[in-house]
Amino acid sequence: MSTAESPPDVALSVVVPAFDEAEVLPAFAQRLRPVLDGLLEQGLGGYEVLVVDDGSSDPTPVVLARLRRDWPQLRVVRLRANAGHQAALSAGLARARGRGGVLTMDADLQDPPEVLPRMLAAAAGNDVVYAVREDRSVDSVLKRLTAAAFYRLVSALGGRAPAQAGDFRFTSRVVVDTVLGLPEAHRVLRLVVPDLGFASTTVGYVREARGAGRTKYPLGRMLRLSLDAITGSSTAPLRLASFFGLGGALLTFLLLLYALVSFALGSTVPGWTSTLAVVAGVGTLQLLCLGVLGEYVGRLYVQLQNRPTYLVASDSLEDPADRGQART
Ligand code: UDP
Ligand code: MG
Repeated sequence: MSTAESPPDVALSVVVPAFDEAEVLPAFAQRLRPVLDGLLEQGLGGYEVLVVDDGSSDPTPVVLARLRRDWPQLRVVRLRANAGHQAALSAGLARARGRGGVLTMDADLQDPPEVLPRMLAAAAGNDVVYAVREDRSVDSVLKRLTAAAFYRLVSALGGRAPAQAGDFRFTSRVVVDTVLGLPEAHRVLRLVVPDLGFASTTVGYVREARGAGRTKYPLGRMLRLSLDAITGSSTAPLRLASFFGLGGALLTFLLLLYALVSFALGSTVPGWTSTLAVVAGVGTLQLLCLGVLGEYVGRLYVQLQNRPTYLVASDSLEDPADRGQART
């Protein structure tokens, strides 16, 4: 095995999950490289840019192989199949060599590379640096509304994630190792990292528009991420059923009282509407509570199965001759 192309030991790993990002990757490299090379000149002890190709089916592997030809610090880890953003991030964290820590960012230039030096400067004395979006007017109204609702829900459930912080984040080596040591498979990193309680700070930036290509997060995927995040960080929804039960008991008591009084006064009439309303209401609540329960049971099941959340097909560090051809 020859690692002549990249130094054996690096101070910083930049982990970038990429799924079908062939259109934007050349521009991404063009903007990221000067920033990192500038940091090298200022004394950064070596870096690697670890792009995790999350099972892309477009020319992403070919584009990456081409970029790697004259950018020795670029490393490509390809996953066998599309594992999803969070699993791709975990794959990157697991393989990152950065002694000092790992910086994660998106490939689509929505996380501007020019913020990196400020984030690394803020890392002195902190284990975690979140880049938070001060202005996300480029995002769609739907995206902003759902994001706002999501962060409000998370904090209501006791989560500590800073609002407007996605996965644009620096984590020191000790945080990376702590995260990797957690037994949880389907972790949502943006909630797990704040919960660990390491010293942290934030750096503001203006969210840019996607450089090229389309979003890989349609509504369905966003919903799934939210469900994973909520069930992964809180069991509060399970208590919902108990609260409904308590409220229901109180209501039943009042209703009974009302019925008895009506009976005593001799004014009972066949109440079709009220019966229907009660039956429908209770049925809906029961289904809802059952659904909540199901979410957690499903999570338990998946964790019990303990399947890997991603499979690595190749790593350019181990196979420097990799030219981006499809593998079997
Ligand atoms: N991504 C990934 N696997 C997926 C979906 C997305 O690795 O299954 C990557 C994608 O290439 C990008 C980042 O995750 O680098 C964020 O995705 P995207 O920009 O599409 O999400 P948005 O910014 O629209 O929320
Ligand atoms: Mg994006």
